[in-house]
Amino acid sequence: MRSSVAVLVGTQTSHLCFQTLKLESSQIIYRRVQKMTTFLEPYDPPSWVKELKFTPKFRVQLAQPNTPIHKWNIPGVPERFSIHIKRDDMTGGTLSGNKVRKLEFLLADAIDQGCKHVCTVGGIQSNHCRAVAVAARQLGLVPHLILCSSAKSASDIGCDGNVLLNRMCGADMYVVPRASPYLPELRPRQERLAQIIKQQTGESTYLIPVGGSNKVGLFGYISAFQELQAQGALEKFDDLVFTCGSGGTAAGLSIANYLTGNSLRCHGFLVCDDDVYFYDHIQQTLEEVGLPHVNARDIVDIVPGYKGKGYSISTEEELDFITNVSIKSGIMLDPTYTGKAAYGMVQELTANPQRFSGDRLLFLHTGGVFGLFDGRMDGVLKKTDSETESIKMWLNKTSDPS
Ligand SMILES: *Cc1c(COP(=O)(O)O)cnc(C)c1O
Repeated sequence: MRSSVAVLVGTQTSHLCFQTLKLESSQIIYRRVQKMTTFLEPYDPPSWVKELKFTPKFRVQLAQPNTPIHKWNIPGVPERFSIHIKRDDMTGGTLSGNKVRKLEFLLADAIDQGCKHVCTVGGIQSNHCRAVAVAARQLGLVPHLILCSSAKSASDIGCDGNVLLNRMCGADMYVVPRASPYLPELRPRQERLAQIIKQQTGESTYLIPVGGSNKVGLFGYISAFQELQAQGALEKFDDLVFTCGSGGTAAGLSIANYLTGNSLRCHGFLVCDDDVYFYDHIQQTLEEVGLPHVNARDIVDIVPGYKGKGYSISTEEELDFITNVSIKSGIMLDPTYTGKAAYGMVQELTANPQRFSGDRLLFLHTGGVFGLFDGRMDGVLKKTDSETESIKMWLNKTSDPS
């Protein structure tokens, strides 16, 4: 089955190449495309997914499967609650976090469509863009990243955090103004770029929306939910807590939870936009997969109130919280997503405990560790150091540290 698909895609693509390129180079592309299709595996959905009107045909393996679940002694939680954490920050090393799961389906679709390039969009420190850069290179695709930043020239871009990894992958980065909305500004730029690439190389580009949150990427967290089910999470926990950034993780988890009988109560803590935006996104996804009769508000609780000063802007209180959590529990949260959601969860457990259906919570760590390396933590860490005097000079081996 797999090899017949590979031949089919290879033949179609080589046929196109023969029309546009010289024989010699088309043979090279033909071989390359054939090699990429060997990454494709047929996607075998669980029975409860089969009722959806859309399911992807293929996936590729990128994420480390069965990320651990363990107890989490996060400080500040009222005694009656017990918190566990699902470590999707461990879906990989440089290819870590929640976006990898979505890319298993998105990049499979890209290869299936015979695309040689992928293009996506995000903030300058986007975890999603970095995951696309790394995963694309692993699969032999060329990554193009449209990044929103207030930088005025290429020399302002630097090498911090995720940008360092983008550079390590040789991703093409296109810097656009910081506050560019997706549909009116970024989508047309993606389409224009795909046109330019087509004119220059004859090759096609696969376009991935912000955060990879469409009906294909959705299956990343539908299959993650299947993993949760196999790990016994549906019996062991009452509530599932996660971060909401573009809504794909929320949509996948809450739709899968609905399809399997609503065992958990799902809570998405938003870090941008507002609750109406996310309910609309999930409602639209429900319609796209053939569940228009389901009301998004019945399957997920979107929690506003903890995005702080705005998307990707941190307050000192939030950064202090992140540092306190890593000191007390060895878990590194990131400043843009998981730090705000975990902070919100702790606040709600105290101020609003009836929001949760029980006292056994599972927090999904969605990754983002490289956001800690963008320079924003420096001030808080130096302040903590000066309070705790954790750095002591000990240059002379004959005297004690001072
Ligand atoms: C993108 C991202 C999220 C948000 O996930 P969505 O599916 O976009 O809502 C949460 N945490 C981290 C670390 C992310 O990079």
